[in-house]
Amino acid sequence: METNISSQSKTEKAEYSDHFLCALMVSDKNRKIIFTNRYFQTELGWDDSRLLGSDVNILFTGASQIFCDSYLFPITAIEGRCEETQITLVKGNGERLPAVVYIRSSPAQADLLYWTIVPSINRDKLYEELIANRERLEAQAEILNSLATIDELTGVNNRRELMRLGETLLDQAIRSSREVALLFIDIDDFKAINDTHGHPYGDRVLKQLGKILGESGRSSDIVGRYGGEEFIIVMPDASRDAARSYAHRIHELAASINFDEQHLTVSIGVSQIKANEKTPLAVLVDRADEALYRAKAAGRNCTIFFDENSNGRPRQINHV
Ligand code: GH3
Ligand code: MG
Ligand code: MG
Repeated sequence: METNISSQSKTEKAEYSDHFLCALMVSDKNRKIIFTNRYFQTELGWDDSRLLGSDVNILFTGASQIFCDSYLFPITAIEGRCEETQITLVKGNGERLPAVVYIRSSPAQADLLYWTIVPSINRDKLYEELIANRERLEAQAEILNSLATIDELTGVNNRRELMRLGETLLDQAIRSSREVALLFIDIDDFKAINDTHGHPYGDRVLKQLGKILGESGRSSDIVGRYGGEEFIIVMPDASRDAARSYAHRIHELAASINFDEQHLTVSIGVSQIKANEKTPLAVLVDRADEALYRAKAAGRNCTIFFDENSNGRPRQINHV
């Protein structure tokens, strides 16, 4: 037999609400509960007798009660509705349950509030998974970023990052009229070390020197591996004396790496910009490289400053 919808009684229609997979509730102007569907009983463990006539607060945790007072009710009063809002329900047995609530005031009777409450355990789980995934992705991005900027073998900046940071440092120094020194460090006779002891041994020497260089300077210095056995240090606010004494220290530190009763030696070329001098980083690198070439020619294990005043030719300043 066909059901004639219009002829159904109000009671019959109200019973439809008992089959919804969510909690439906009506409260009055005093926030008293005047209707609940069966979901409260079957899924949330509340008896009608405890709910009907009670304050709606009975269904919420203390924090959610405050939230209702400060947000849900005012918003609903102003806008006539409040949608998709997260609250925490209290079940009949006292358990807590995350839920999403929708409230609508009755157009005819503004004092009546119609509540749709949907438990959202899965939504919360999904949200937590989303957060965990985001954290994992952020950690991976950090690793990728460090792979893109750090030289894997030596742990100092790779060439690209060295140049990027160096450019920034130089721009800042030029703008604020400060000095910068650039040290170009090259291991002496490294090929012979590889040939005698093998490539992995050479790698360990590179690693040790990288560690020493990375740890020995000021935190504002930029240290990077420029090429195979070549390192560059860009030192902000470094006078000629400061650069000289740091180069001296690097020779001492390199000598602390021993093999075959020998000490590691390096040659160093130094270039500088003085206050108010505008020189691109690439030019500073070329000049230091030129001075380094001179240091090699001068017998290695020494530091030579590039000095423009000597007709653009490097002049040996410090032979350690
Ligand atoms: P010089 O004193 O003139 O600088 O001589 P050198 O032998 O140090 O210079 P050369 O340019 O002839 O040799 C550099 C060597 O560095 C050759 C190359 O095989 C080695 N090298 C470059 N990168 C690496 C690396 O990552 N690991 C190892 N073990 N060796 C490397
Ligand atoms: Mg070299
Ligand atoms: Mg070398």
